[in-house]
Amino acid sequence: MHKYDITVVGAGHAGVEASLASARMGKKTMLITMSIDQICATSCNPAIGGLAKGHIVREIDALGGEMAKCTDKTGIQFRVLNASKGAAVQGSRAQIDMDEYKNYMKNICLNTKNLSVYQDEVVDIVIENELVEKIKTKLGLDIYTKQLILTTGTFLNGEIHIGKNSFPAGRACEKPSNNLSDSLSKLGLSLRRFKTGTPARIIANSIKFDEIEQHGGDKKPSPLSFQTDKQNFNPTQNSCYITYTNKITHDIIKENIADAPMFSGQIQGIGPRYCPSIEDKVYRFYTRDRHQLFLEPQTKEANEYYINGLSTSLPTEIQDKVIKSIKGLENAVVSRYGYAIEYDFIDTKVLTTKLSHKTITNLYCAGQINGTTGYEEAGAQGLIAGINASLSCDKKPAFVLRRDEAYIGVLIDDLVTKGTNEPYRMFTSRAEYRLLLREETADIRLGKYGYEFGLINKTTHNKTKIKNETISLAVENMLSVWFNPSKDNLKLLEYVGEDKISDKTKLIDIVGRSTMTKEKLDIIVPKYRTLGDYIKNEIIIHAKYYRYIQKQQKQISKMKNMLNLKIPDGIDYNSLSGLSLEVVEKLNLHKPENLFQASQISGITPSAVDILLLNISKRIRDV
Ligand SMILES: Cc1cc2nc3c(=O)[nH]c(=O)nc-3n(C[C@H](O)[C@H](O)[C@H](O)COP(=O)(O)OP(=O)(O)OC[C@H]3O[C@@H](n4cnc5c(N)ncnc54)[C@H](O)[C@@H]3O)c2cc1C
Repeated sequence: MHKYDITVVGAGHAGVEASLASARMGKKTMLITMSIDQICATSCNPAIGGLAKGHIVREIDALGGEMAKCTDKTGIQFRVLNASKGAAVQGSRAQIDMDEYKNYMKNICLNTKNLSVYQDEVVDIVIENELVEKIKTKLGLDIYTKQLILTTGTFLNGEIHIGKNSFPAGRACEKPSNNLSDSLSKLGLSLRRFKTGTPARIIANSIKFDEIEQHGGDKKPSPLSFQTDKQNFNPTQNSCYITYTNKITHDIIKENIADAPMFSGQIQGIGPRYCPSIEDKVYRFYTRDRHQLFLEPQTKEANEYYINGLSTSLPTEIQDKVIKSIKGLENAVVSRYGYAIEYDFIDTKVLTTKLSHKTITNLYCAGQINGTTGYEEAGAQGLIAGINASLSCDKKPAFVLRRDEAYIGVLIDDLVTKGTNEPYRMFTSRAEYRLLLREETADIRLGKYGYEFGLINKTTHNKTKIKNETISLAVENMLSVWFNPSKDNLKLLEYVGEDKISDKTKLIDIVGRSTMTKEKLDIIVPKYRTLGDYIKNEIIIHAKYYRYIQKQQKQISKMKNMLNLKIPDGIDYNSLSGLSLEVVEKLNLHKPENLFQASQISGITPSAVDILLLNISKRIRDV
């Protein structure tokens, strides 16, 4: 008899984080996937992180996930994006060796205590008394499980399109998962269709590198994991290259656009708006005479390059023409053609903030099956589903991150409250409290949870505690110390090239000036001289954001109060007078868990929220 506490279906970026978390939390875990050799395959570009995605990777790391550590070990180019902009919107990104990345994750999974990895296809989910009892596999196994986590990515009813050619597949040269899709439909889950796409890869020795622009990594690369030694981090820094489409490229695309499945009507699913295909870009932005392309190595040996920005599902012969029209790629030889893929995903409004189904409470979904796009978004959901499934086995309260605590909180709240009508990717603009959610504070914000769940070790926890205490003490100190316009102080300011002051000013407002540097800090506050550069920088940024963050606290405490007002199970919205029919319908459909979630549903008016508040408060008083 195959019996597990937790079974995870699919070993992509969500499945791996889910199963590692669950096994590390002591649960007997099964990770079942269609191909062990494809564990954590990077279906699209071999890169982890980026704007807002870097934040998620660091949050996964702070909670005890594996993505950042794997990236540090297998990265081949590290850069901080938006480095010239404010600290809150900078994003760490690393090009990775896609083979080493898979290998690292495969080895971790195969060597983790409590975790069994098994290659097979799950074809059916058997429900008994509104709970998952077992799953059935193609090879005829029945696997009994207390909790089930689905992380099937783009495989559910997957269909690849290249020109007029279309065929069932979960990813290039991999089978789709059709039976499971049917099984989910039978369970009453509402499935919808999305689309995504990928560009061609080309052989390195067919590229004229000397004719295009080289694009290197950072001079002083920063690791993504808080557990990687920053001082001794000295990874390979391979180059990427920049080239551009041109008028000839655009003419070829325009002439053949009718053969692109997106335009011929062959594809019905909605694609990622912020990651359009080249045919879409040429069509929509027809006044642009060129589009930037990045050539990114797929592995450390850099034998193959990914053409970032040239995602396409045009016929193969047109892809060849398009590529050869681009500077530096005149002789390019394609190793893998670009394609589009349509797949089923579930309407996430049926999920709770634990990522479990509202009715079938031991069924969890995470990753692209939830309508998101991106390895990072998938990994984050996997980790949260794994933690919650594990807590649920122990009958412990759910782990839910708030919007002011983490990008992961924003991601899950958006998904379960609003759902999504296009592949959901994270942006810094989605987070209303982004000043609180900088990458570098992820360990301070979330490390305590990782430690509590046993996913972060004591050494890391203590390191975070010391970092937090040092910065908090400095902030407290800067708030209590006044900087007077004395002769000496004015001289000091002049010496470091800072504007003078005419009134006494709190030290935090001097240190928080946009022109402050760690060199100036050494002179203005000599007692910080002995601190490391990293902590000095953090002190300056904390000072910079301090006043803005204070202003947001009022809003945050209002949100916290609303989150604490749980909406009772089985509430009869029809019986509450004053709610319009439309509002009742929406509340019945979304089944919000608390007043804050109710307030986030589109169409729920402030007066409807007031009515709910009155009624819930009354119920609490009456109990
Ligand atoms: C062509 C393409 C282009 C993409 N382009 C981009 C992009 O430009 N930007 C971006 O951010 N993201 C892109 N993505 C998305 C990115 O790859 C995914 O968001 C990410 O991989 C999702 O992770 P996941 O863990 O949810 O699923 P996946 O990584 O897809 O993993 C799913 C796993 O589930 C397994 N599985 C499925 N069904 C079963 C079953 N019935 N039984 C057992 N195992 C099963 C599969 O074998 C696979 O291992 C693209 C994906 C594809 C396919």
